[in-house]
Amino acid sequence: MLHIQSKLPGVNTTIFSVMSKLAAEHDAINLSQGFPDYACDPKLTELVNKAMKDGFNQYAPMPGSTFLKETIAEKVEKLYNIKYDPENEITVTAGGTQAIFTALAAIIHAGDEVIIFEPAYDSYAPTIKLLGGLVKTYELAPPNYAIDWDMVKKLFTVKTRMIILNTPQNPTGSILSSDDMKSLIKLISGTDIIILSDEVYEHLIYDGQKHQSVMCYPELRQRSFIVASFGKLLHATGWKLGYCLAPEDLTKEFRKVHQFNVFSVNSPMQQAIAEYIKEPKNYIEIGSFFQQKRDYFRNLLAESRFKLLPCNGSYFQCASYSNISDEKDTDFSIRLIKEFGVATIPVSAFYQKATDHKIIRFCFAKENDTLALAAGKLKNV
Ligand code: PMP
Ligand code: GLN
Repeated sequence: MLHIQSKLPGVNTTIFSVMSKLAAEHDAINLSQGFPDYACDPKLTELVNKAMKDGFNQYAPMPGSTFLKETIAEKVEKLYNIKYDPENEITVTAGGTQAIFTALAAIIHAGDEVIIFEPAYDSYAPTIKLLGGLVKTYELAPPNYAIDWDMVKKLFTVKTRMIILNTPQNPTGSILSSDDMKSLIKLISGTDIIILSDEVYEHLIYDGQKHQSVMCYPELRQRSFIVASFGKLLHATGWKLGYCLAPEDLTKEFRKVHQFNVFSVNSPMQQAIAEYIKEPKNYIEIGSFFQQKRDYFRNLLAESRFKLLPCNGSYFQCASYSNISDEKDTDFSIRLIKEFGVATIPVSAFYQKATDHKIIRFCFAKENDTLALAAGKLKNV
């Protein structure tokens, strides 16, 4: 027998694969893994076809197509009034996940500490560990998952190298406020701490609230990697394309890793996406589109025994089932699939210690008919 010394002992297949597989096996409605069940805009697929026919079939430039980087810079400037230089500050990646991995790999040395807020997207902690870093966790509490910045300060040591932010947040749907940003600025001033700001849900923010990007705060911008995903923006999670914004010195380090991690990413899609997002009307309504879905789903579930948590952003709705059952959330989610035909994600999967607050996550990036069908089943629980 070959002896393999695992670099990630204790890490299993990600919850998203596990739940989507179970959903398929039991023919359940899949509200677990975060992806739309409807088609993306046919204009977009036509643009990909056109790009392929036009010959965009060889390697794109290592940091991304110039056209796409310039279009991203225009979009960012239009939205936030901040200029990122396409040549030196924008890198096109194979989705948000690769950008997160690459930013961490570029910065984290063995023994460095990274602060994360849990529940957290499940790639952060394993990636930090893989790189020899130490995860310092701050567990947020339902229902609001607010950050007490004095508690964050207590996690600081001389080895604190990075803080990972995620707003709007997966899985909780919470968002950071400008007060959060001001507290963070105070906390890190005079340190060399770097910020990795996962903003893949930047457009999915509701009730007239404003997305607080770290780029809007100069003290944060100059030390931040910002991660974005076209999967969310274009309703095309399977395309696995995104980008990373960072000042030149950070981008330089990022690209040193990126060039040996993927070198460059899918060329025809970069061309198509650039043409598509040149027109802001192709994405500017996405917030109200998902707000309608959130409201539709919440109204349907109001008649169930689930207690809905606030949802200020993202396409996830969390709900407590504590007045339905005291089962572990993993057991409850599996029973929901098998007995009621609806797949969800147990929120304990987003905590390294599997902290169980009896909360599950629904993805509402689905056709209204799908949501209605699922809610009909959930009302029987
Ligand atoms: N960050 C968060 C918070 C996410 O939910 C996801 C998954 N959608 C990603 C990053 C990764 O995005 P991508 O699918 O583009 O890799
Ligand atoms: N971000 C998505 C979610 O939270 C899924 C990502 C994945 O499957 N890796 O459901």
